[in-house]
Parts: sequence; C-alpha cells; structure tokens
Amino acid sequence: MVSRPPTFCPDCGTRLESTPIDARERMRCPNCEAVVWHNPVPCAGVAVVDASGPEPAVLCVERGVPPGVGEWTIPGGHIETGEEPATAAARELREETGVAVDPADLEILSASAMPPREGKHVVTVHYVAARADAEGDPVAGSDATDTRFWTPREFDASEETFRPIHEERFREAAALFE
Ligand SMILES: [Zn+2]
Repeated sequence: MVSRPPTFCPDCGTRLESTPIDARERMRCPNCEAVVWHNPVPCAGVAVVDASGPEPAVLCVERGVPPGVGEWTIPGGHIETGEEPATAAARELREETGVAVDPADLEILSASAMPPREGKHVVTVHYVAARADAEGDPVAGSDATDTRFWTPREFDASEETFRPIHEERFREAAALFE
C-alpha cells in the first residue's frame, strides 16, 4: 500500500500496469502478480476552543512546510502506526503549538476526506477540546510558522488564507461554543 500513485513495484521495481479491479483502475505488478494499493493516509487533529472571550476562538497553526505553506489549519498530522487517533491529535497539537490536552478530553468533531495534494489523499479525524481542559500557551513548533487563537470574525477581517475543509472544521468548532 502506498500513499501516492505508484509507478513501479515497491518489491521488485518492475513498471506497474493499470488494470480494472472492483470498478476502479488499480496498479498491478506483472512480475509479482500483486496489486499495489493506493489508499488514503489517516491523520488526526484537534480544534482547541477558548470560550472565555466575547466570541469563541480556535487555536490554529500557520503551515511552515509544503504543501500549502502560509495556509492556516487546525493543528494535526499523521497517525503513527499503532497509535490511537485521539493520542495522535494530542501529540500533534503539542508538537505544533506547545499546548497539551489529555486525549480522554477530546470529542470527535468530524471525519473527512481532504482534497488530494500531489496525488496524496488524506482522511482526517478532527477532534474538539475546550481551552479550559488544555495546558500551556501557544508557541509555534514543528511544521508551523505561527500559532494563535482566531475567532471566525477576526479571521474574516484578515488577509490570511485557511486550508479548505480545515476552514469548515474551524467554523464548526467555534460554533459549538457559542
Ligand atoms: Zn513486483
């Protein structure tokens, strides 16, 4: 299984051939006689919502690595092998913002397929957590150039760009605390 459209067999290096299986074109190795499956990669993220102000604000990060450098997203990333999604979401939050949450305090917000980038498809489980259950002040960490709490109104008044789908989760998370 690979995360980007495969050209060569990962086992023997033979050029793959396209063949229809289960109503989709699949890439198959004529030497190994095996299909090289191309599947989405599971990711997890968490929207931490601060409801102490006049309007709910969501902790976001500005991406510092491709793809989408400069876009704002909900903190998150790849789930490690054997890792629970909520644990992955809490780990990514800490790595990217320095803010800590207990995975047990996370509620599922949504699970969605992200628009593919460079042939890589991602399915993200987005969680939501209350700022009151989180510890630490945001400091941009790995993969992030900035991190801060945004209210939807503040974001709309800015010149910044939000990543598609992540923006829907951002607004949904804020609306939960109105
Ligand atoms: Zn092969």
